[in-house]
Amino acid sequence: MTILETRELTKYYGTGENQVRALDGVNLKVQAGEFLAIVGTSGSGKSTLLRCIHGLETVDDGAVYMDGELMDPADKAKYREQRNRMGFVFQHFNLFPNKTVLDNCTLAQMTVLKRSREEAEKTALEYLDKVGLLDKKDSYPNQLSGGQKQRVAIARALCMNPDMMLFDEPTSALDPEMIKEVLEVMKDLGRQGMTMIVVTHEMGFARHVANRVLFLDQGHLVEEGDSEAFFTNPKSERAKDFLSKVFYDAQ
Ligand code: ADP
Repeated sequence: MTILETRELTKYYGTGENQVRALDGVNLKVQAGEFLAIVGTSGSGKSTLLRCIHGLETVDDGAVYMDGELMDPADKAKYREQRNRMGFVFQHFNLFPNKTVLDNCTLAQMTVLKRSREEAEKTALEYLDKVGLLDKKDSYPNQLSGGQKQRVAIARALCMNPDMMLFDEPTSALDPEMIKEVLEVMKDLGRQGMTMIVVTHEMGFARHVANRVLFLDQGHLVEEGDSEAFFTNPKSERAKDFLSKVFYDAQ
């Protein structure tokens, strides 16, 4: 079942001579329960694609559909509901520094979903447990490691009971020894059936955990396919060139 679709999604930044076409007619279908990795060189439009899907950026042309229904910013109430079905995890966590881990996880539940504090805390504790951070519930973000902050950010997104999770380079800001703990949480989520769309530079993760890989280049969706096939037998020259650059070859 297709849960999310983009049709001819196009996005420009800037004007005149300085205009950049960050996305150029991207057509994409995501199936419910799928684990999708988006890869490509820096500046290829990966982040923009994710941000346009979530409505963090306006779209210049084309559109996003959820369960076959148009996501139309002009239809405010419906659009809000559709956006609330997606959890978004940022590279730089975006936690509130002056709030405890627990409060970070309850705030949006109470303001957006109108849950009582009791109900919101119950849900927050459940998801903090799931990401292995129940014992940090009363800590503040600056008392946590980068990996722990990112796991809190994931728990916070899960508290909203989304149908799909979008990750924008979730491990890029982390020290190397903290990357795995975050990837493990993401892998578990995928195994439990969450629909996952992940922009990542972690090629081992994309290859072994994702079901499908999308390769973007200069705003174009150049290639997509089964992740193992993409890494072992890329079809396009651009994907071959990309893979030859990202994998260290000792010879
Ligand atoms: P990626 O995530 O693959 O690194 P991005 O989606 O961040 O790529 O960027 C795609 C293109 O759009 C790049 O050329 C980038 O410089 C440009 N871009 C991204 N965000 C902005 C912005 N806010 N203003 C101007 N240009 C931007």
